[in-house]
Amino acid sequence: MKKVVKFGGSSLADAVQFKKVGDIIRADASRVYVVPSAPGKRFKKDTKVTDLLYRMFHQAEEGKDFSDTLAEIKSRYDDIITGLGLDDFSLDQEFALIEENMKGSPTADYAASRGEYLNGRVMARYLGYEFIDAAEVIFFDEHGVLLADKTKKVMRERLDQVPRAVIPGFYGQGFDGKVKTFSRGGSDITGSIVAGACRADVYENWTDVSGFMVADPRIINNPVRIETITYRELRELSYMGASVLHEDAIFPVRSEGIPINIRNTNEPEADGTWIVESTCQKSGYVITGIAGKTGFCTVLINKAMMNSEVGFGRKVLQAFEENDISFEHMPSGIDTMTIVVHEDEFIHKEQRVVSTIHRYAQPDSIEIESDLALIAVVGRGMKSMRGTAGRIFSALAHAHVNVRMIDQGSSELNIIIGVENHDFETAVKAIYDMFVLTQI
Ligand code: ASP
Repeated sequence: MKKVVKFGGSSLADAVQFKKVGDIIRADASRVYVVPSAPGKRFKKDTKVTDLLYRMFHQAEEGKDFSDTLAEIKSRYDDIITGLGLDDFSLDQEFALIEENMKGSPTADYAASRGEYLNGRVMARYLGYEFIDAAEVIFFDEHGVLLADKTKKVMRERLDQVPRAVIPGFYGQGFDGKVKTFSRGGSDITGSIVAGACRADVYENWTDVSGFMVADPRIINNPVRIETITYRELRELSYMGASVLHEDAIFPVRSEGIPINIRNTNEPEADGTWIVESTCQKSGYVITGIAGKTGFCTVLINKAMMNSEVGFGRKVLQAFEENDISFEHMPSGIDTMTIVVHEDEFIHKEQRVVSTIHRYAQPDSIEIESDLALIAVVGRGMKSMRGTAGRIFSALAHAHVNVRMIDQGSSELNIIIGVENHDFETAVKAIYDMFVLTQI
């Protein structure tokens, strides 16, 4: 049995958290590869080390004095080192090098990556594991896209030589040989790459929540936990705003058929959430999860006999493409087509898009409406289950929520419902109550 364990920033924010992590790793000898994030927030108003590093970079770039920020970062690590009792260990030399590099021509990616790099050094020392610099085993192309095959090969060869190691998250090596980071939260991806490369039995992703909840805890008080979720369900939910794991963290493990187990460092006995390719385990409820977002607009295009006009849809979508706007959904009727877009992205370009649609597709009219919220009700259990849509809509009707749009893919994995922004939370609560509390 081989496990890759990734710990998020809040799990490594200070020495107390570090010790919990050490206990978790030592409790199971199969936890052989460890991927740490940079120290995160110790309390609500605290600043993550990664954010301090970006601040330091901007100060250095503008020729300002960055010594206070550097000292603040250093004290975060010094506190951890002292708290762990690593008396004969110091990062002084590393910090001297970082300072020197910041005075040269540093990049933002180099600066930001030092959070994970230094935490990796401390962690390796604390555990007595070997340290592998991620810049030696993770590679990006000239567009900043991960070179998945090369990375897997080099990483696998390296890990084959090292039975236990710490590999810092979040960065690798760019095409120019310089350090390059993933987008924020990218240590999740590193963990997944390591797990895929060593063909781990499981990729454990340790954070500060006990897995995925059926609905957002900011809307539902104490929601129930999702025990098992498939990759596809997760993709639907994260696209709609459920965020525990970086979206790109799925691919490296998925291609190797490795499950992800989301766990809570502060509640290690809890089983967390399992993310799997497929399962015959029934979820406790018909639905697996509910997620949603506010701030969408609809562009309704009317044209008589649209259904028989070949190429109409392409012309309309071309208008969006030329204005560099991606669309989210596209429900359609016989003489109407609706394009759902993000309001933020669309608002500045709306008149341009309208005139481009007129030019290409000659519609009879175009109507734009704003303040739409989208809610995705996701569940593998919905397939071939009668009455799910009926229950959703009766719950919404009872809660006096008007449904403005409905979209169900033929996969039967999700139903998307559009409601007014101001009805968003009421709608989520109504659906949650119907499926989880009433449980019929
Ligand atoms: N430290 C980085 C961030 O704050 C990456 C990570 O934690 O995954 O985004």
